[in-house]
Amino acid sequence: ADSLPKGGPANFDYTGYWRRSLVAAVAGRSFSRLVGGGGEDEAFLCGLLSHLGQLVLAECLGDAYAEVTSAAEGRWPDVALEEKTLGFNHSDVSGTLLQTWNLPAAITVPVAFMFRPDELPDGTSEELAGLTRIMSIAGQVVGVLCEDEGGEHMKAFQDSAAESYGIDAEEAEQFLLDLEAAIRDAAAMLSIELPEGMSHDQIVGRARMQMVEISLNTTADLQSAERRAADLESKNRELAEKATTDKLTGLPNRAAFDDRLELEVQARLHEEGIRALGVVMIDVDKFKVFNDTHGHQAGDAVLEMVGRVLAKMTRKSDFCGRYGGEEFALIMPQTTPHHVRLVANRIREAIAAEVVEFGGEELQVTASFGGACLAKAASPKDGELLVKLADKFLYKAKENGRNRVEVYTQTHLPGPRTQAPE
Ligand code: GH3
Ligand code: MG
Ligand code: MG
Repeated sequence: ADSLPKGGPANFDYTGYWRRSLVAAVAGRSFSRLVGGGGEDEAFLCGLLSHLGQLVLAECLGDAYAEVTSAAEGRWPDVALEEKTLGFNHSDVSGTLLQTWNLPAAITVPVAFMFRPDELPDGTSEELAGLTRIMSIAGQVVGVLCEDEGGEHMKAFQDSAAESYGIDAEEAEQFLLDLEAAIRDAAAMLSIELPEGMSHDQIVGRARMQMVEISLNTTADLQSAERRAADLESKNRELAEKATTDKLTGLPNRAAFDDRLELEVQARLHEEGIRALGVVMIDVDKFKVFNDTHGHQAGDAVLEMVGRVLAKMTRKSDFCGRYGGEEFALIMPQTTPHHVRLVANRIREAIAAEVVEFGGEELQVTASFGGACLAKAASPKDGELLVKLADKFLYKAKENGRNRVEVYTQTHLPGPRTQAPE
């Protein structure tokens, strides 16, 4: 300690360096003693040499290492920061130096890996790994006792003491308190001057508070992350709903209709039910003239009304949507042509009976309906054909005078492909 420099590059904290080395040494020795298994002297020496690489880098790199120190913003530069700024870290330097000085593996390995125990090479003996584990804990103790912001280190120290050695939080705190006298003794023995600092009681108390604060912040962060996730989910749901909902009427839109119809057809592929899949196409009568006479907004109010009537007069298991423009569509998953006609007529009457008040006027419209049913699908394309068929009957309703219902009376598609062989 006497022969190594105590001053040099302006922004390297030599007092801090010695204090950290000493704390690492005493902490390593005491912890090794606490958990048993020997290696106390090795641990002490490892601690004394634990930051050697930083002293060397500060001396040899000068300005380049000064960049690391200033990037640390008042904290002690750690391995990750060195890695980021320099591309290597002081543990590499310490390990390599000690190796070239022919120190035994019991020193070189823990010193090289105590600040990055995860990188310990596979196949390292259990003895060396154990010593490295102890020194890694000593490194965390240095963080608690020498950093202003010791809370994070306190948490790491308590966690690893509990995980690796089953030492509970209370015992871990007592360990920190007991170190105070041992550190003072060792400093005297090595003629290292320690800065007048806080007592361990104060330091541990402060670290404990910081630790609680950190865990509270973490909880708050977690909660706000959860809230963000929930927001995102509801936004996504909203978006998905928007993509399948018609804005004016609030009914499912054409895309949703197509999806639902495809599902219903899939369910009937090659399987004949007693009841058939029904589709009803609905088109408001003379709506162009209506718009021209009363205005587009009045037309919109009427379309809203039609949507409301449809939603009100169909079953939950039915599906009604806005197909486009002044056209609506209905899917009835379990029905018959007779029933389709019945339901369509009921809706037709309800629409015709509605009076929409708009701009001081009382407005009324009628609509025409075309329906078709399918008991058994032969191809996924049958949904399209079913809609076409219903559309054909809708035109029949228009031709026959509007405000009417026309329904295809059979439950299989017309044409050669579905005709039963004679
Ligand atoms: P038909 O009885 O033969 O169905 O006659 P029609 O006038 O209803 O048929 P056509 O298809 O010629 O006209 C449809 C009209 O529907 C034209 C268009 O202005 C109106 N329309 C379509 N979408 C909307 C809408 O969102 N709001 C309003 N107000 N009108 C719409
Ligand atoms: Mg139309
Ligand atoms: Mg129309």
